[in-house]
Amino acid sequence: MSGIVEGKVIIVTGAGRGLGASMAQDLAENGALVVVGDVNKDGANEVAAAIRDAGGQALSVGVDVSDRAAVKSMIAETVKAFGRLDVLFNNAGISQTCPFMEVTEEDFNRIVKINTLGVLIGTQEAAKQFIAQGNGGKVINTASIAGKQGWPDYAHYCVSKFGVVSLTQSAARSLASHKITVNCFAPGVVATELWKALDDDARRYGVTKNPDDLINSFTQNILLGRAALPDDLVGVTRFLASDAASYITGQTIMVDGGMVLI
Ligand code: NAD
Repeated sequence: MSGIVEGKVIIVTGAGRGLGASMAQDLAENGALVVVGDVNKDGANEVAAAIRDAGGQALSVGVDVSDRAAVKSMIAETVKAFGRLDVLFNNAGISQTCPFMEVTEEDFNRIVKINTLGVLIGTQEAAKQFIAQGNGGKVINTASIAGKQGWPDYAHYCVSKFGVVSLTQSAARSLASHKITVNCFAPGVVATELWKALDDDARRYGVTKNPDDLINSFTQNILLGRAALPDDLVGVTRFLASDAASYITGQTIMVDGGMVLI
């Protein structure tokens, strides 16, 4: 297998399904040695096995990205298996549809802990490894259109993703002297299983009435006229992981079909 990420050792968190799984598969198809990290170890095992069956190289690791000890051990397992780390994708995330006035402290803390604290911990632990290796590295975070605008039924999720954008900027400024770049990309609506839970929440709170009303209402505002499939994102994620992106840092790349124009 050959490609622009040939031979790179790349961790993708939240890769047991959805967008992360497609990113991991694409990176492996393009020659990367991929670590599939997910709190759902069975999902991670299945994705890694499928990559190996297709002739790629992959390791699966069970990890909760909000647990520093687990993140450290994921990086240690990566280095043990593949000799080093080149790129970390902080992609794991959760969401919830919940009207602004209904958001509880528990809802808020759960989402921010995984989506935002998880990015801080992952970036710090990857950076320690990159600094020890001495020749830089890349961190790529999954932000969202919700990291650029506030939506009434996603206040806590928007906070968590604005936090991803700001952590990307702070980390880029902090780590540039070590030749470590930090960027994020911002999907809009990607048709993954995540939307099933969002749709259930929306109907429970009376935000929508019928199945799929939620994704259909969001999709109406996409200039390119349809929701993304995970494969619409992987060209950008592969590029960001490659040497071609080495002079980009601190940036948010919108990959939303035209939902938020900034
Ligand atoms: P998904 O729910 O299909 O997949 C998320 C994966 O993350 C799951 O496999 C889950 O087990 C894993 N995960 C959850 N909590 C974890 C934790 N604490 N530690 C490790 N793994 C954990 O979701 P998706 O649609 O593939 O979303 C992936 C990323 O993209 C998320 O950060 C999400 O916020 C972001 N995003 C998604 C959309 C969308 O429309 N689907 C849009 C913008 C941004």
